[in-house]
Amino acid sequence: MAGRIRDADIQLVRERVDIAEVIGERVTLRNAGGGNLKGLCPFHDERSPSFNVTPARGVYHCFGCGVGGDAITFLTELDGLTFVEAVERLAGKAGLKLTYEDVDGRVQRGPSGQPGLKQRLLDAHTAAAEFYTGKLLSPEAMTARQFLSARGFDRDAAATFGCGYAPDAWDALAKHLRAKGFTAEELTQAGLAKPSRSGSLIDRFRRRLVWPIRDSSGSVIGFGARKLFDDDQGPKYLNTPETPLYKKSQVLYGIDLARKEIAKTGRVVIVEGYTDVMACHLAGVPMAVATCGTAFGAEHIRVLRRFLFDSESADGRIIFTFDGDEAGQRAALKAFDEEQRFVSQTYIAVTPGGQDPCELRQSAGDTAVRELIERHTPLVQFAIERAIAKHDLDTAEGRLHATRAIAPLLARVKDRGLVEEYLGVYAGRLGKEKAELRRAVQGAAAGQAPAEAPPQPRREMRADSMQLRAQREVLKVALQQPQVAGPYFDAVDAAPYTDPNYRAVREAIAAAGGAAHAAAGPNWVAAVQAACAEIAAGALVSELAVEELRLAGEPDALYVRTILARIQRPVVEAEVADLKRRLQRINPSTDKDQYMSLFGQLMGLEQHVRSLRDQAANAFE
Ligand SMILES: [Zn+2]
Repeated sequence: MAGRIRDADIQLVRERVDIAEVIGERVTLRNAGGGNLKGLCPFHDERSPSFNVTPARGVYHCFGCGVGGDAITFLTELDGLTFVEAVERLAGKAGLKLTYEDVDGRVQRGPSGQPGLKQRLLDAHTAAAEFYTGKLLSPEAMTARQFLSARGFDRDAAATFGCGYAPDAWDALAKHLRAKGFTAEELTQAGLAKPSRSGSLIDRFRRRLVWPIRDSSGSVIGFGARKLFDDDQGPKYLNTPETPLYKKSQVLYGIDLARKEIAKTGRVVIVEGYTDVMACHLAGVPMAVATCGTAFGAEHIRVLRRFLFDSESADGRIIFTFDGDEAGQRAALKAFDEEQRFVSQTYIAVTPGGQDPCELRQSAGDTAVRELIERHTPLVQFAIERAIAKHDLDTAEGRLHATRAIAPLLARVKDRGLVEEYLGVYAGRLGKEKAELRRAVQGAAAGQAPAEAPPQPRREMRADSMQLRAQREVLKVALQQPQVAGPYFDAVDAAPYTDPNYRAVREAIAAAGGAAHAAAGPNWVAAVQAACAEIAAGALVSELAVEELRLAGEPDALYVRTILARIQRPVVEAEVADLKRRLQRINPSTDKDQYMSLFGQLMGLEQHVRSLRDQAANAFE
């Protein structure tokens, strides 16, 4: 029978563990007076700190979302550990030895059966990291060592970052870990190995240079592995797959080393790869982190905010470095779709000559890397310069086109003082009066087409905006009242959502398990947000979750069917039109079967359109 930890030991853990230290590994805490500490709540999305920690009483409480508890609760809630796992982890930190007893209070010798899964996976990763670093010194890891030294990383640097080598064998790691008592199931769940067709275990990483990826508290939760040999058929970089420990939408390589510096300086530098993180840290930019095998997204911002934006007035800066290629620049500009606060705190540092920070460090030294980061420009300014560069400002026409290109960009800046500043700078560049440029920006802000552009057909625009309104309404109900929207919502695929952001939210709802099985509340909204790959869609989710529905009273099934019918109608009507065109091209006398089949489909679709039309006729605005 599994034993339990003695109550006295649990109390001891609570007394000995410094809750400020435990929470401080995940959230930057500042002194709030009266023996309290404050930070941004890791359990809900907030901009001004309402998350309080009182070390003297060993407790935390969030006045924003109401969560609270002690150090043990914190680990169970935030890291998903079981109670026993949390106590074991904290005891380990505090150097306490736990005593386990059976139900009758008899002391047991060993620990209580098996530790929980997450702790086992963490232990497996720690052992794997040791195994890999040990192998880096072996003769067969010569290529890996050469790779590092060719990029300016010596033995100390490799040790600091825990670089290792995955040997050229099918199951070297699996064998090593099995011998240490880990089960095949645990290694598979950890993403370290997978069963082959014959049933034996194969290592995930082979013949590769590996970097351990750690969470903010320093625990190894995954690995990144780079290809070293030309005959390696795999991708250049291979990362740990999604596991109970490793969520790539939240993982930031280097956060364990960078978090204190991020909190201290209020700056974080986003680079693209493992070697760039190493190069930045070694060059004296210790707040550099990188995403692992995925684009920087809303979840990453949420993680960083806890370390970065620790007060409302803080001037936190997120600095992206890009090697100046198109893809990188597009990624940077995409951040424009994020909320304003993020935009105004986003900066860009473009490396000269298309080098990444690692290459820059080698060619020009540590100082050059530090200067690169110091030379960051606001994202807005970067976007404007990019837009202007496409036009010839020596011609009147070029200046006109450039004006039109930058007006919508300036229209998105909400800080009026900043807009005025830019108006002054760019009016001069474009040879315009400041007032003239301001009018163009106001026009863009009002969503109006510039006066010179051909006017849009008005009817079409109205229909379009009604469609978008209905799409928005459908998503709002699905987020706010999933139990009502549920099965109807899930039955309609993403096709009717013409706006890419709405479509992304629709897909995120499906990825989060669908509306039918969801319970309304912050967890549902958070789950959808977490499933959003794009920053913009993630931000839209909270907006849709709080925006009032367009009806008085509570939505019911009829309301849901009505708005769903509205958004589906154009899709089905387009299918009808398409079928009719195809029918016209078919000769009924020679291709009779095909004709009849298409004709049958057409009849069915037209019936569908009629029923959608009837349903959509129910008033809702
Ligand atoms: Zn909270």
